[in-house]
Amino acid sequence: MATYKDWTQGDEQCFTSEVGISPRGEYYNYVIVKGGKIVGFGEEQGNYAGGIYASPEFSTECFKHEKERLKTQYPELYEKIKDIPLAKIYKPANKAIYRPKGKAGEYAAWACNFYTGCSNDCQYCYCKRGVLSHVWSTTPRLKKCFKDADDAIETFRKELDYYIANSSIQNRGLFFSFTTDPLLDETGGLTVEAAEYAIRKRVPVQILTKRADGALRFVECLSQMFGGIRPFHKIAIGFTLTGFDELETNASLTESRIHAMRTIHALGLRTFASIEPMLDLTMTEDIVNCTLGFCDLYKIGLLSGGKQPIDPKNLFSFIPNITNKIGNAGAKVYWKKSVSELLDGAVYSHPAAVDDGYDIFSINRQWPHNRQQPFNPFML
Ligand code: SF4
Repeated sequence: MATYKDWTQGDEQCFTSEVGISPRGEYYNYVIVKGGKIVGFGEEQGNYAGGIYASPEFSTECFKHEKERLKTQYPELYEKIKDIPLAKIYKPANKAIYRPKGKAGEYAAWACNFYTGCSNDCQYCYCKRGVLSHVWSTTPRLKKCFKDADDAIETFRKELDYYIANSSIQNRGLFFSFTTDPLLDETGGLTVEAAEYAIRKRVPVQILTKRADGALRFVECLSQMFGGIRPFHKIAIGFTLTGFDELETNASLTESRIHAMRTIHALGLRTFASIEPMLDLTMTEDIVNCTLGFCDLYKIGLLSGGKQPIDPKNLFSFIPNITNKIGNAGAKVYWKKSVSELLDGAVYSHPAAVDDGYDIFSINRQWPHNRQQPFNPFML
């Protein structure tokens, strides 16, 4: 006689196809119903695999087609659910994760912002002047679209699951953050939780900060969560390094940021420097000289708005010189569009000069000499 595993619990029900037995255990298809609507299609495959493979929150197309598939492949299961409507298809409202546009889009294909406001209080901060100026504060505040931190992380997970199933986010990665420093005392907790979730889902994470203490704490937290930091964790930590501490009122000193970058790189993580705004060519060269050997990528851009402090004439020799230096150290440099715009569209071509689609994780890093590379069969 056919066996089924149907069950009801509160307003949740599960309907199954006939249960089969394989060497791995029981296998069957199932449909989950909640509040009178179908919310998931899944599969049980014994002890090793299975789970929901279509729901309104991910695999949108698959969710819509699944009911029809059951009709031909599992008619006895289809009979049980044929009159039950599908739950509303989920569309993220981009509360946490979004695709940045304009200059921010040049920096990252996908970004996450939980907070607006930043206690670093940089004098050149674009958030103070732009569309966010009305909600800007030197105290970071959770964005109004979130009820609290729990709601923020739940929303993040839901949106990320959706984009994993419906976009290229697993190739392009996720950037934190454009509207705050994500590693402040106030913001770091959510950044850690979100980064951990993203990494477990194989979404590369890039974090930009001016906090040396926050960056080291972040790496320590992740190390505890994962039982060590290993190369298969796609995390890149970037430090903004303009060299002008007096303009970055409450940020860590440049020296501390560079020291943190060196430490983090030695642990096997990717690192990048955001030299933006570039305010002085000599200072920029000093920053590059001080970080060669433990910075994988330099992103260099000009001040946006206000009087431009860089004389374009000086860039014609500066750009090849810096690019060569960076290339000789095995790193890459991305000269932002603002630089080529100042040079009437001129672009310097060199193997070390990359474009905005460059993947920092494509760099073939050596595992630090004093550590054994841990064996992991799932290593990417
Ligand atoms: S760290 Fe970034 S967000 Fe914070 S004040 Fe400085 S420029 Fe603005």
